[in-house]
Amino acid sequence: VAESYLDLTTSVEITNPVVRTVVEKDALVSLPRFLAEQNLQNGKAFIITDSTVAKLYGETVSSTLDRAGIDYEILIMPAGETNKTLEQAARFVEQLADSDATSSDMVIALGGGVVGDLGGFVASIYNRGLPLVQIPTTLLAMVDSSIGGKTGVDHGGKNKTGSFYQPRLVIADPAMLMTLEKRVYTEGFGEVAKYAALDADFWLELESQTTILRNFSVDNLGLLGKLITRCVQQKSKVIKSDPNEQDPAGRILFNYGHTLCHGLEAAGGYSELLHGEAVSIGMNFAAQLGEHLGITKHSFVERQTELLTSLGLPVTYRGNAQLGDIEMHVAKDKKNIDAHTTRFVLPQTIGQMTVQQVPNRVVKVEIAKFLAPKASSEIS
Ligand code: MG
Repeated sequence: VAESYLDLTTSVEITNPVVRTVVEKDALVSLPRFLAEQNLQNGKAFIITDSTVAKLYGETVSSTLDRAGIDYEILIMPAGETNKTLEQAARFVEQLADSDATSSDMVIALGGGVVGDLGGFVASIYNRGLPLVQIPTTLLAMVDSSIGGKTGVDHGGKNKTGSFYQPRLVIADPAMLMTLEKRVYTEGFGEVAKYAALDADFWLELESQTTILRNFSVDNLGLLGKLITRCVQQKSKVIKSDPNEQDPAGRILFNYGHTLCHGLEAAGGYSELLHGEAVSIGMNFAAQLGEHLGITKHSFVERQTELLTSLGLPVTYRGNAQLGDIEMHVAKDKKNIDAHTTRFVLPQTIGQMTVQQVPNRVVKVEIAKFLAPKASSEIS
């Protein structure tokens, strides 16, 4: 019997009117029912996935759709961020065209963040839009990247080529997390902790659950389902009121921790850190920068470090990227609005954030301090 945690219908005032998001254990095998509820059962499902996920779930999806008499084709890309390219998107568009996909068909993006972003992008451009179903397979994709309608590929820069395109349906099945590698499971907590930093009640709850959550076990699926639900609801609510990131107190706050994160990812060639790990380090930096600017309480910096560490996340950078490269990428962050300042989401205390334009010269000095080995650091 399926354990259901969430069945949410959200209106978003862009492209598609309604996004249905379901968090349910074993939802994958109920896919035909969810498609029928969206009136998609008569179309052909073009399942975009990667080589890793296809091995794990290809058979289950095939037999589930076969049994329901739903026509499908599985389109596979090589796994990894380096394959999130415009060329790969073009190959999928050609495959859709070769199979005569029409607007009564659909794209199902089955995978982690890379597959979700690229599959969503393909769905948004083919025939000016095919119905899109997101089936995220990682914790990070379930709590964050599958929600909100951002799609894209890394062309001209990370996520530089893309669109806002809402899925019709998002299905998060916590049971699928049990096939993840421990490190990939754990990185998802980077985004979870970010949501908690924006909501004091959630923070307190998460603080009390770190030990049990780190114990990556099927016994914790119920707790995980509730955790995912909480993140989805928080994000969906903000996206509903600020779908295109116009409100300074809205969607932009989800960028907390992401400014240094993007710099570390870019300077490290996207191979050293997983996204959630880089978010965690970026949250610690934002808090220390905030403290330097007199915005963040020191007690918050320490408490956040404690939370992130107890979730198994890194809070300092120990990679090989050059300081100059990191600074350059931070100064070029796509959220910046002029050439002399960098836009940061900075914490005041738990649940309270402020968006600030910080002069680049200040950012530079603080990044250098942050990255210096602890012994010679002047941060106290
Ligand atoms: Mg993120």
